[in-house]
Amino acid sequence: VDVLLVEPGPIGPGVHREDQPAYLWLNTVAAQATAFCDEHMASGGPALGGLDFLNWARRRGVDAVLGEGRSGHDVRGDDYLPRRLFGEYMRWAADETLGSAPGWVSIETAARTAVDLRPTSTGALISLDDGTRHEVDLAIVTTGHGVRRPATSAPREMWEAYPLPDTVARAASNDHVGVVGMGLTAVDVIAALTIGRGGTFSSERDLQYVRSGDEPQIVIWSTTGWLPCARPANPRLAPKPVKGMLTLDSVAARRRSCPGGRLDFWHDLMPLILDQVLSGLPHEGQRQAARNVLGVGKGRWRDAAEYSREVVEQASWDLLEARRGLGVSAFKEQMETLRDCREVFRAAVSAPGLTDQGHRDFFRYLPAMANRAAVGPQMERLEEVLALMRAGVVSLGPGASPTVTRDGSRWLVRSTSFDVESSTHVDHLVRAHLDWPRAVAGVDPLRRSIESWAAAHSADARYLDLTSEGNVRRPDGTVCPCIAVFGPPAEGANFYNNYVLWPGVPSRVVADMDRLLAPNFHRHSQLELRQRSQR
Ligand SMILES: Cc1cc2nc3c(=O)[nH]c(=O)nc-3n(C[C@H](O)[C@H](O)[C@H](O)COP(=O)(O)OP(=O)(O)OC[C@H]3O[C@@H](n4cnc5c(N)ncnc54)[C@H](O)[C@@H]3O)c2cc1C
Repeated sequence: VDVLLVEPGPIGPGVHREDQPAYLWLNTVAAQATAFCDEHMASGGPALGGLDFLNWARRRGVDAVLGEGRSGHDVRGDDYLPRRLFGEYMRWAADETLGSAPGWVSIETAARTAVDLRPTSTGALISLDDGTRHEVDLAIVTTGHGVRRPATSAPREMWEAYPLPDTVARAASNDHVGVVGMGLTAVDVIAALTIGRGGTFSSERDLQYVRSGDEPQIVIWSTTGWLPCARPANPRLAPKPVKGMLTLDSVAARRRSCPGGRLDFWHDLMPLILDQVLSGLPHEGQRQAARNVLGVGKGRWRDAAEYSREVVEQASWDLLEARRGLGVSAFKEQMETLRDCREVFRAAVSAPGLTDQGHRDFFRYLPAMANRAAVGPQMERLEEVLALMRAGVVSLGPGASPTVTRDGSRWLVRSTSFDVESSTHVDHLVRAHLDWPRAVAGVDPLRRSIESWAAAHSADARYLDLTSEGNVRRPDGTVCPCIAVFGPPAEGANFYNNYVLWPGVPSRVVADMDRLLAPNFHRHSQLELRQRSQR
């Protein structure tokens, strides 16, 4: 088997670049990440065992990030480590994997960008940015969030958040920076504009921000207006089996009463989600907080003061629940079900899937909702945001879904969810949310090339039309068995492939890749065995 790896950067790290600052943390605790397949991930595994991230980090040592009194080798499963360390692990894991390939697998790497990919009568043709072309039997696209624009931030454009901190370098210390989004990406941007500019936190009594004098004024807002939930203490080592209303069986039962078996998001799926989350919360206050986080609670306020008070109150209460942690806090347990239920959501999207409107609604609301509930920032990071608010460095924008218009050289942000109107001006805007899939077609040459010959999804032309195994469909409905897409560029056709592998947890992406690749390797390994026995 001849393998050609096309990657302009180092092989392995992907989005977890090693040149990013240490204050950008992985969103996954150390025990929930590995680069290697194990026997639980896909049937027939492991193809190749290897050290998971936690044990690799313990062996390597990670001085300076674990806090006082802990040695660099004393990494715990619930530590959030720097993303760049994970990049180093992934590069090491890639070297290990490539170095242990058997003799009948030859591996060539091209440090280039793939700019064109199309099917041929027997396979696929890949063109690289140096003009070379490669005919292959099977092409697998794992381009993540695509090729990024260089981090030049034009003053009149909305700036992309990544790669930090270069993207926000143009913001001067007295500028006002509007951050569009209040989730993980916003927390990264805030860290870059504060810790990244020399600010520190002191925790003598309440956590307090100590200014460096170089930080701009930061204004944050989002569609719901609520801050995401903090990640709880005592994280799970594997998703909990789902019991209750939102199960594979209940989704299948709903399908039976839908025309063509296709679900509507609001009518069929959302009631199951609400039942699942709210039924375990005995107090109305908890249920209201849950509805707010899910985006179906309070969305209108009298004025900016009421809005600000309620958001801070809810976030402070959520932090207390996060400290109590999973297994203790009913609120955190119920929120975590949106992470436990990923397989159920996948099943809802898989054929016969949802109606076209249901499909659009699912991808518009569900990923953001699940992220706010169960894949939010670390407790420490949310505490820092509240401390930055107390210090007057971060402020809440004018409520949920404000309008943003150009006003001379600045942007005017005006409330739409207050009875008493409120507005503010900012000098720069940062897009602190990732679209699913990211609208990359304009900048990513490979995506553009695939879109030029492949079918678009019937519900939304921004998505590819893939089989549930990841193969690309042509506009005439035929399937290209020789081209498959996995991870972020497959989002919108299938649901939620993009998170790092968890040790010991079934993985759809590994199972699908295995199904696609194994026949090639199997054929060759069998051949070699036969030749050896003949010798
Ligand atoms: C900022 C950020 C932080 C994240 N943090 C976490 C986290 O902590 N935990 C978690 O579970 N998930 C996280 N994710 C989700 C993340 O998408 C997945 O976990 C995972 O990185 C996806 O892996 P991938 O290999 O599919 O894509 P990526 O990691 O994005 O890698 C894609 C690779 O493809 C290359 N490439 C792109 N286009 C081309 C081309 N045309 N030709 C050749 N090469 C190309 C890129 O250079 C890159 O190396 C994060 C995502 C982002 C954007």
